[in-house]
Amino acid sequence: MEYLSTRDKTLRLSAAEAIKMGLSRDGGLFTPVSFPVLSALEVETLCGMDYQRRAAYIMGKYLEQFRPEDLALFAQRAYGPDKFDCPEVAPLRKLDGKTWCLELWHGPTSAFKDMALQMLPQLLSTSLKMTGETKTACILVATSGDTGKAAMEGFADVEQTKILVFYPEHGVSEIQKLQMITQEGGNVGVCAVRGNFDDAQNGVKRIFSDPAIREELAGRGYFLSSANSINWGRILPQVAYYISAYCDLINTKEIKLGQKVNFCVPTGNFGNILACYYARKMGLPVGKLVCASNCNDVLTEFIRTGVYDRNRPFHTTMSPSMDILISSNLERLLFDLSGGDDALVRGYMEELSRSGRYEIAPELKERLQELFYGGFCGEEDTAASIQMLYQYNYLIDPHTAVAAKVLTDYRKGSGDMTPAIFVSTASPYKFCDSVLEAIGETPVAGSVERIAQMQERTGTTAPARLAALKGKQPRFDSVTERERMDEAVLSFLQ
Ligand SMILES: *Cc1c(COP(=O)(O)O)cnc(C)c1O
Repeated sequence: MEYLSTRDKTLRLSAAEAIKMGLSRDGGLFTPVSFPVLSALEVETLCGMDYQRRAAYIMGKYLEQFRPEDLALFAQRAYGPDKFDCPEVAPLRKLDGKTWCLELWHGPTSAFKDMALQMLPQLLSTSLKMTGETKTACILVATSGDTGKAAMEGFADVEQTKILVFYPEHGVSEIQKLQMITQEGGNVGVCAVRGNFDDAQNGVKRIFSDPAIREELAGRGYFLSSANSINWGRILPQVAYYISAYCDLINTKEIKLGQKVNFCVPTGNFGNILACYYARKMGLPVGKLVCASNCNDVLTEFIRTGVYDRNRPFHTTMSPSMDILISSNLERLLFDLSGGDDALVRGYMEELSRSGRYEIAPELKERLQELFYGGFCGEEDTAASIQMLYQYNYLIDPHTAVAAKVLTDYRKGSGDMTPAIFVSTASPYKFCDSVLEAIGETPVAGSVERIAQMQERTGTTAPARLAALKGKQPRFDSVTERERMDEAVLSFLQ
């Protein structure tokens, strides 16, 4: 399978090169030239496999360059019992005869980012070998919380890689900070930035585009790379769990092979829901793709009107991983919906960076609306959604609560009662404050204490690694001014 850039179709790369580079030099995103379709027989075969084998099989369709036995080994390592706390890896929880929740947070950092970031480092490190790269890849990450920890956990002690994470000094939850500064591994670094997430992200972007730094690092034997969801190596592992969830519904006789299922995905950068769209392109019988946002509702408006407009206030919410105004992966969807019109996509993206706004052509909008429904959920409704599911004995985090509410809204508005799966992207124990408040408890002081409080009050069990944060020694305490992030990189890569 070859990969092309969404902004220049003539650029063709191998999977290994696309994964190594992350982002195309023209600013576009790498996308496979075609999507392999699974036959009914293949889906039946997948039904008989465990999660690891399903993932390796599906990834193999896009990575013929990689040896199947390597992919099988990567999946064993990524999703094995020492990493995931349940054998199903991505279990489905049944809520009623037509509704299920797909739990994607059973990995080492308790957020769905693990599903991809346990796999990407292995793909990257193999890609370096395949392309004859001798330099060490340095992964720079700016994080608002979940990505940084999941990326470090995935890259810790991976050969020929180093990883440095920047987080806004006061912009992540206490649990998230504790998770990061206690990270183990000889090749990892963490640094707080005096500023907000945008400052950290802009700093990283500046370093990426600074030729002097690139040259200096090349002299030291390093090149810079990204673990952001623009990397194809992050999207691909996510396609697997949509297909796997469908297989599980067949295995438990909830649906028949070929029957349609709707998916509702809590969305930020559009990576997760894009993977669902790609699964549909591979022949998975997906009905509606329901795109759920919090009150940063730029995607809801886009799907309803065809106008993408980031010129709006930025809201800080209790679902921070969805506090985002530029959803990078939307570019891949537009490329695909337009039949691969790279000039059109380039034009929209130029307008977006110039004016913060673009409007898609009417026929594109029509196709978008056939496939997708967009809805959003405000803060009060998010809390009410947590409370509502808790009454049914199911404790969910605020991101998941947004999806549950938007799915309900979609069903009420459309009358579409197709069996549906909403996606759960984080453990409620990552967001104890908001969850405790939503279920009518007053959070005690101290983040690790709240974990204990929530276990006691709800009778549920915290993921072992979050509970083990209590008593863990911090390894990192550096803080940098936002103008001096480049110095932090240079001193990390001595
Ligand atoms: C990253 C994240 C999301 C958003 O996923 P995208 O792929 O960026 O759309 C939703 N929920 C949680 C908990 C996340 O960490």
